[in-house]
Amino acid sequence: MIKVKENVSLAKRTTFGTGGPARFYAEPEAVEDVVELLAWADGVGLPVAVVGLGSNLLVADEGFAGVVLKLRAVLAMAKAEDATLMAGGGAPLAVCLHRARASGLGGLEFACAIPGTVGGAVWMNAGAYGGDLAGILARALVADAKGARWHTPEELGLSYRRSGLRRGQVVAGVELRLEPRHEDEIRETVAALQAERKAAQPTNKRTFGSVFKNPEHELTAGRMLDACGLRGYRIGGAQISPKHANFIENAGKARSADAVALIAEARRRAREQFGVVLEPEVQLLGPIEIPMLG
Ligand SMILES: Cc1cc2nc3c(=O)[nH]c(=O)nc-3n(C[C@H](O)[C@H](O)[C@H](O)COP(=O)(O)OP(=O)(O)OC[C@H]3O[C@@H](n4cnc5c(N)ncnc54)[C@H](O)[C@@H]3O)c2cc1C
Repeated sequence: MIKVKENVSLAKRTTFGTGGPARFYAEPEAVEDVVELLAWADGVGLPVAVVGLGSNLLVADEGFAGVVLKLRAVLAMAKAEDATLMAGGGAPLAVCLHRARASGLGGLEFACAIPGTVGGAVWMNAGAYGGDLAGILARALVADAKGARWHTPEELGLSYRRSGLRRGQVVAGVELRLEPRHEDEIRETVAALQAERKAAQPTNKRTFGSVFKNPEHELTAGRMLDACGLRGYRIGGAQISPKHANFIENAGKARSADAVALIAEARRRAREQFGVVLEPEVQLLGPIEIPMLG
């Protein structure tokens, strides 16, 4: 019997550190547990969401009136076999990278500064420095209320920071196709990418990563918001990062509503100044919405 808790705080489970509780919360330790929980939620008509490391997530201050799953045990582990890395959907990318490096497998270095799980990374098709999940994913085990089955990247509909997965579908496991690379070479690449990241982004602050996807425009979202004079702009406890304008920092006691107000203001200014409607990259959970541009 899987333990289901009630009214569990989600703020502690996100990197931004805001938001209310989940009405129900469970930590499945096997694919069968995930399917059982999804079938139960489906039967009683409750929405379901997975929280990975909460690094791309803004939870409503009122919380989420559904079931939150956090994958544990074998669903959060990784191991290498030949040139394949097999991992549970809840395995942190840092753990995957560590296992790959220890087995002399390269290809995952691009993810060294992405503080999420591999399941969250599939959901988002996370990427950096020219690489993304779509480029290394052989297949993913996706569970729903009826069971679990393997999907190819094409079936998952991966494109720029997006997948075709829907709420109620859980990435329970992945197989990543990597290639032989010397451990020292991997170490060097990772050190260089991490230094680059530290110089450009607020890596030591509470954020949810990039606020907006980069638009089809000569300027990135960050440069656009910078040109709008938004660096350091603050609403309540949330602040546009003084270091990189496409990040919002929890500058102390922020609420999710403060971040939403900043997102709305940034979108308004980008449209006014550049005629571009920026699309949020951050994922929203619960009764929380970015207001429409008037
Ligand atoms: C400092 C910082 C830097 C970042 N840099 C990058 C970057 O360079 N590139 C990039 O792409 N992203 C970046 N991000 C964003 C984030 O780390 C990625 O999107 C990451 O893949 C999210 O993984 P997660 O496990 O934290 O997912 P969460 O934030 O917990 O969830 C994100 C979404 O995925 C869903 N989800 C999570 N796990 C699963 C699962 N197993 N099955 C189904 N759905 C699931 C959630 O329900 C939610 O909708 C950064 C974030 C931070 C804070």
